[in-house]
Amino acid sequence: MSFNQKNFDYTTYEEYYHTTLILPRTWMISSKTQHTPMGSDNYLLEGDEYALAIDSGMTKLDYCKYVEQLTDLPVDGVINTHSHFDHTGGNGYFKKVYMHPEAEAGAKRAFGGSAEGYILDYKITPVREGDVINLGNRELEIIEIGAHDLSSIAILDRTYRILFSGDELESGWCNVGVMGTKRKGATIENHYKNMMKLKSRWDEFDVICPGHHGAPLDKEILNHVLICDKMILDGYEGSCDIPPKNGGGRFDPETGIRVMRYKTAHICYNINNIFEG
Ligand SMILES: [Zn+2]
Repeated sequence: MSFNQKNFDYTTYEEYYHTTLILPRTWMISSKTQHTPMGSDNYLLEGDEYALAIDSGMTKLDYCKYVEQLTDLPVDGVINTHSHFDHTGGNGYFKKVYMHPEAEAGAKRAFGGSAEGYILDYKITPVREGDVINLGNRELEIIEIGAHDLSSIAILDRTYRILFSGDELESGWCNVGVMGTKRKGATIENHYKNMMKLKSRWDEFDVICPGHHGAPLDKEILNHVLICDKMILDGYEGSCDIPPKNGGGRFDPETGIRVMRYKTAHICYNINNIFEG
């Protein structure tokens, strides 16, 4: 049966989430919403002492209560990979919310205009480059990689050798500096630098778990993303055939929006936002 948004019942956990144990002590909780029909992929990690959610999706259901049912451990809180509301909308149900300090404003800005029904008056616990969260024999290291969103972090699970990459690296579409005027950091040049930073940690992880389009991914995708970025930086121009789910159709080629593909990677970018400075 095909997915029909109009008939979708967003009021029950069963209809809202697909939950799978994808790796040892690692749950993937995929959500579907009206504003992100491709859904977003959240996670729940268990250590020996605590569990921690990675991203909370865009939900008015008590998402903390939902993940608590998956584990016997106390849930310490949620950590956001970046500020976008399809990753942060359910934060308000958790007693502790970790995010990069630059994420706070965006994290409380609802997609689709109306914030009605979302819990947004929560406090944040800031995390930065090099911070480590220990769930009890499960260490998570924060690596700053902002480009798609300037507040983005990767979370390197040093114990189970998993890299959580948010929206900066995924098998669907990574958008980098696509819309609007040029902003410092939201460029392919900076994205490439960040991906090289992840590459420098290559021997410390085996798989990558992104924020959309399924996981776990073979870490080889990092090399494909790097090749996309490098081709753009070297002056190759991507194509204009951007599909509707990524805003295609409303983009005139004159806007400068292109997609560069290489094997499993797709980078959506703007020819005016390639280089810093
Ligand atoms: Zn995003």
